[in-house]
Amino acid sequence: QAKVAGKNCHRFYSRAMDQAVERRVRMEQDLRGAWERGELSLAYQPVYRLQDRRLVGAEALLRWQHPEHGAVAPSVFIDVAEQSGLIETIGPQVLRAACADAMQWRRDFPGCDVFVSVNVSPRQLRNGDLAALVDHVLSTTGLPAAGLHIELTETAVIGDEVRVSSLLARLRDAGVKVWLDDFGTGFSGLSHLRRVPVDGVKIDRSFIADVLRDPDDLALTTAIIAMAHSLGITVVAEGVEKEGQYDVLRERGCDLAQGYWLGHPMTGQDFRGLLG
Ligand code: C2E
Ligand code: MG
Ligand code: MG
Ligand code: MG
Repeated sequence: QAKVAGKNCHRFYSRAMDQAVERRVRMEQDLRGAWERGELSLAYQPVYRLQDRRLVGAEALLRWQHPEHGAVAPSVFIDVAEQSGLIETIGPQVLRAACADAMQWRRDFPGCDVFVSVNVSPRQLRNGDLAALVDHVLSTTGLPAAGLHIELTETAVIGDEVRVSSLLARLRDAGVKVWLDDFGTGFSGLSHLRRVPVDGVKIDRSFIADVLRDPDDLALTTAIIAMAHSLGITVVAEGVEKEGQYDVLRERGCDLAQGYWLGHPMTGQDFRGLLG
């Protein structure tokens, strides 16, 4: 009896696994050429300065409208793009489009100097020459380097720290700001700041979520702000969903913030509305 159950169990799992693999393979196929077919687009989430709630920039977030399944979660399809290598094609397209949009904002709203912040995946950092790509995109779109921020996750900088450091140094020398995304979730976050030169850290929204209820999260957030400032690094809070969170972050000296309370990711059209 047990033997049979064990056998069935094994068969069930391998079939479930096959299905998961199959789903990923199908998603990868669908994702191929999605940009060219117009299924991929950028949403922009406004970033504000805490002190006076001035709009200072926008994070570009990739969206995929699948022709049959509708909107696919970025956490799912970005992972597929990263694993399959498709991100090496899509990433540069995102960078180009975000910089072109940001340059258009500057043309249409004179005096407007909001930055655009672009997420770059570990694979893009490892393969290809990101600094050369950024240089090329800035010169073809006309966007000043100060108008571009690059967001990297902690996992992207782990491992090849020497190479990554020199790459980031090239970007920063050109005037592009580099931020460490989802800060605090990695297990060795603080020690990285010594070896990897960055201009800012984005405190992960899991810390911000409980900052009003959990004294430990408030203590950690406060410590990150103090530590970053002592290193001359800008602090951005992600996932601000309540006014109280905004208030406590401003009180603790956090520099910038984004989140649903301040503004959801929106179409480029709607973001232009904020600028106007
Ligand atoms: P991320 O870079 O940490 O982006 C912030 C995520 O938090 C976004 O999710 C955003 O919609 C969400 N968010 C913003 N404010 C709030 C809030 O107040 N509450 C909550 N609960 N969530 C909030 P999204 O758009 O689903 O993106 C997920 C992740 O996918 C991003 O995390 C980023 O790592 C990745 N991603 C998105 N676009 C790109 C891209 O163009 N390239 C790469 N490599 N990764 C991307
Ligand atoms: Mg980000
Ligand atoms: Mg983040
Ligand atoms: Mg995140």
